[in-house]
Amino acid sequence: RKVDLVYTRVRTEEKLLLEALRRRDCAVNLVQDSGMVLSMDRQRVTEADTVLMRSMSFTRARYLATFLEMKGLRVLNSARTISLCGDKALTSAALAARGVPMPWAFVAFDEDACLEAIEEKGYPVVTKPVLGSWGRMVARLDSRTAAEGVLSTRFGTGGAQDHVALVQEYVDKPGYDLRVYVIGRAVGGLRRRSEHWITNTARGAVPERYEVPVVHAKLAEAAAEAVGGDMVAVDLLETRGGDIYVNEINHCVEFARSIDETGVPLPDLIAEYVASGAGG
Ligand code: ADP
Ligand code: ZN
Ligand code: MG
Repeated sequence: RKVDLVYTRVRTEEKLLLEALRRRDCAVNLVQDSGMVLSMDRQRVTEADTVLMRSMSFTRARYLATFLEMKGLRVLNSARTISLCGDKALTSAALAARGVPMPWAFVAFDEDACLEAIEEKGYPVVTKPVLGSWGRMVARLDSRTAAEGVLSTRFGTGGAQDHVALVQEYVDKPGYDLRVYVIGRAVGGLRRRSEHWITNTARGAVPERYEVPVVHAKLAEAAAEAVGGDMVAVDLLETRGGDIYVNEINHCVEFARSIDETGVPLPDLIAEYVASGAGG
């Protein structure tokens, strides 16, 4: 199999993926996203049959995946999956359409309308940018004054494309959240423990080993299916009462900070999936 690995930066992940693919006799080309110029026609641009999309930029990943699919290539994850997972409002809609359990959520487009809807629900609630990662700008609103402050920033800065507020139920977690890796099927997971309510490892949460129970595996697989994800990291929020919700789905799986703790051989599992010809 001939694979183009599209990247922004060659991080630990990309190095490990490259090695794992080569061990499986894949011919791999590294292609930097910033250098790609794609014409809007079906002309071939590469010898490869498969593209492993590892661009860190949502803009580039989404467009490149769309155009490369148009040119007849198998792209992992697919353009549809990237489009849905990269935008948390669209992820929520895809999950809701399939009845996958998630925190209640709404989307609003105006400061006053949003504040009114929050007031009706009551505090605390969570709001986060629809585009974003690593826990950046995720905010818990505990009061009306906090909501007013955050919403005036959300709607008073940026451009029209930024003037959307995703508001979610605040889930009172027991000190951690859970991540299940779905590479064709649920293959393992990670518990992220933190004193802070934001439990991204990029924000200092400690990764721990987690034996994924069957119910969690099934939930993560249903979430992956709702967005057509071939290889995704599904984040779950557990309530203190033991209920479990899907919070978000990450289309570009990161594992450098946690590979030792999880014991899940993600580079090999991903390479195996790429080599198998499945998905896309
Ligand atoms: P990102 O894409 O930036 O990781 P997330 O939606 O995963 O955005 O939010 C980051 C973290 O914030 C989550 O891992 C979780 O710890 C916390 N969090 C996000 N939304 C909620 C929520 N609705 N209730 C409780 N905790 C949340
Ligand atoms: Zn995310
Ligand atoms: Mg997250």
